[in-house]
Amino acid sequence: MTDKYCVFGNPVGHSKSPAIHAAFARQTGQDLAYRAIAAPIGGFAGAVDAFVAEGGRGANVTLPFKQEAYRLATRRTRRAEQAGAVNTLVFGNGEALGDNTDGVGLLRDITLALDTPVRGRRILLLGAGGAARGVIGPLLDEQPESLTVANRTAERARALAACFAALGSVEGCGCGELSGRAFDIVIDATSAGVSGAMPDLPAGLFAPGSLAYSMMYGPGETPFCVFAREQGAGKVSDGLGMLLGQAAESFFVWRGVRPDCAPIAELLRKDQAFRRAVDAR
Ligand code: NDP
Repeated sequence: MTDKYCVFGNPVGHSKSPAIHAAFARQTGQDLAYRAIAAPIGGFAGAVDAFVAEGGRGANVTLPFKQEAYRLATRRTRRAEQAGAVNTLVFGNGEALGDNTDGVGLLRDITLALDTPVRGRRILLLGAGGAARGVIGPLLDEQPESLTVANRTAERARALAACFAALGSVEGCGCGELSGRAFDIVIDATSAGVSGAMPDLPAGLFAPGSLAYSMMYGPGETPFCVFAREQGAGKVSDGLGMLLGQAAESFFVWRGVRPDCAPIAELLRKDQAFRRAVDAR
């Protein structure tokens, strides 16, 4: 029987996960079906129960249910504990194992696809929401020289950094406190780009040869990416590779097979270019 997987979210119609996992399954010869399920707000646990009852083997979880999935999991991995959120569930023997693959997805994209080591580098992480929290542990595991978390609301960044102090050199501050400092890797984990904005940043943040990484992805460049290019960042990337990386890691957790993201990234980028061309008409 074909194994069933899904992504829970609300809204979830825009999710690229069904297309990505279908492509992974084709590439690796795995027999599985993957669909998007819009769980009602307040009805996440019920939607999970119904999916398990019909034989569901695993699920991804996206906004706004990642914290609820954390609480629902009967066991959790270290990376889920660190993130305080679950984006991957594995069902079996009456249990729900909760994992979080966002951090490893980002790290694989930065270190492998973008060929940029984190070890010994000065890292700036912008934002103090769920996405930032999910990547701090995996970033510190790579032993950077330093990790600075900067946020519009400085207190949130300081509180978040304090949660991870035992794992390595991490500090929190406001974006206004960054003047005169330079970094080797700058990651935008804010949601500012959703409304076409960007964090209020001083000039001179990007060290020569630095990487600017925006977790957002979509047909157009975010204001952060435009700013980084103007400021002389050596490489600029959006978050499509992170999206694929977290999906590939979930696939590996479920199936024990690691798909190759590169050809699928190419397909998705062609699709984006096509949509840009249609929009420009
Ligand atoms: P949250 O709502 O939890 O956090 C939002 C963060 O953005 C806060 O730190 C907030 O600052 C900051 N922010 C919002 N607007 C502005 C602004 N105009 N100027 C400066 N800072 C601002 O969101 P998430 O952490 O869940 O998501 C952040 C982004 O990461 C989203 O765009 C999401 O799509 C992306 N993402 C991408 C993934 C991928 O696979 N590529 C995976 C997960 C997330 P304050 O505290 O001051 O309000």
